Amino acid sequence: MRHRSLPGVRGRVRPLTLLGDPVLRAPGAEVTAFGPELAALVEDMFATMYAARGVGLAAHQVGEPLRVFVFDCEDDEGVRHLGHLVNPRLVARDGVSVRGPEGCLSLPGLEAATPRYDRTVLEGRTVTGEPLRVEGTGWFARCLQHEYDHLGGELYVDRVRGWRHRRVMRQAARAGWADR
Ligand SMILES: [Zn+2]
Repeated sequence: MRHRSLPGVRGRVRPLTLLGDPVLRAPGAEVTAFGPELAALVEDMFATMYAARGVGLAAHQVGEPLRVFVFDCEDDEGVRHLGHLVNPRLVARDGVSVRGPEGCLSLPGLEAATPRYDRTVLEGRTVTGEPLRVEGTGWFARCLQHEYDHLGGELYVDRVRGWRHRRVMRQAARAGWADR
């Protein structure tokens, strides 16, 4: 029987892009080639996500503005969701909007209460080009919406309003990496 290795073990940990890096604001390009280069990118993204102890990572965060993200995230029932999505499109986003604590590997150490829908459905492709539908609720739905936003050049802080927004941006400025 062939041993199927865990995602990321063959990947290279890449430097993370941080708030202020223009790549994070670039609209992600659709992936057109489902070959070894894409597979290697996804492996690197898993390795980078695990090294940073994240639950999701978009290609923008390793410097590639492409429509790809990876995740290893639990929902509110404790069910683990591990996977990736290429060229996802938002099929549904509904349920109640819940404000919950959210952070991002591109704004290390920071967190802000961010409104997200309780349920999300995305449809895209796997790394080999197979169609894939991913549905999430609770914390996992939050994770999917967060990563999906990255692909459009958006960050969670864009969805935070009022004093919460001012506070997190002030903290980012103090953190020293925001102006890089
Ligand atoms: Zn993020």
